[in-house]
Amino acid sequence: MRGLIERLCTSYGPAGREEQVRAAIITEIVKLNESYTVDTLGNLVVHKSAAAGKKILVAAHMDEIGLMVTYIEENGFLRFTNLGGIPPGILWGLRVVFADGLVGVIGQEKIEGTRKPDLKQHYIDIGAADREEAQARVKIGDSAVYFAPVYQAGKRLSAKSLDNRIGCVVLLETLKRLGGLTLPVEVYFAFTVQEEVGLRGARTAAYRLKPDYGLAVDVTRVGDTPEPDFKTGVALGKGPAIKIMDSAVICHPGVTRLMQDVAEKKGIPFQPEVLERGGTDAGAIHLTREGVPSGALSIPCRYIHTPAEMVDLDDVENSIALLTELLKSTDW
Ligand SMILES: [Zn+2]
Repeated sequence: MRGLIERLCTSYGPAGREEQVRAAIITEIVKLNESYTVDTLGNLVVHKSAAAGKKILVAAHMDEIGLMVTYIEENGFLRFTNLGGIPPGILWGLRVVFADGLVGVIGQEKIEGTRKPDLKQHYIDIGAADREEAQARVKIGDSAVYFAPVYQAGKRLSAKSLDNRIGCVVLLETLKRLGGLTLPVEVYFAFTVQEEVGLRGARTAAYRLKPDYGLAVDVTRVGDTPEPDFKTGVALGKGPAIKIMDSAVICHPGVTRLMQDVAEKKGIPFQPEVLERGGTDAGAIHLTREGVPSGALSIPCRYIHTPAEMVDLDDVENSIALLTELLKSTDW
């Protein structure tokens, strides 16, 4: 699994440009002998059918946050805008990489007084001497993502884009463990696009697939670091979080209860999650058509939207165990 995490986290896939990460996931799906479809917007879907069970859509987004070039200065520096939630306070000195492997360094203008830095006061330095040289390498509208290696210390693993490649890993590993089993439910595993810019891929995927239930698999914030900016009991290493609410969904109590029951019955640790800021694909899925009862399984994660997001591998393992058992449950 470590190799899979490494392959997916080092793949390039900002919102709207998911083709490289999608190709990496397709390689894994082919290894598992499963078939797949790619829809109009680019969502990748694996269908595991049952004779006559409820239809469950399990979604994990493939895209990551990124920076899109908006303007090239005369002296060759690139101005950019954000694709999703880029925290401006951490950018100075970070490296970013474009689709073709071109690497740039983020610089920052002088900040007056105690003002917090703004995205507009940053630029990407690709080492070009002037606009002409820069234009030969980069175009307006090109996107970059953080350039960062994967690092493991004990059970803790740190990488860029664990949000949400780790969710993609949970889906792929679950798919592998379900193998040739005949499930009591019909499952669509969807690797969605453009979550970071507003849950867009999940919206059209859910419309097309018409599920009876929706389940997002994504990361969630924790409160186990010094002076966290909000109070939550969610911590690394204490099991997957079962979402109750975030800013995009109030999870269906029936789905939440089923998730908790299955976890308790199978002895899988879990944590209740109420996330005050942030949303997942469940936010889009539950509002599809006449409404879809939905829930979410969250992998606790520190330093979300930085180049060094961090998860605990026991939580990843327990997330796979919980998702696998949920899809084998006859209680949907
Ligand atoms: Zn996410």
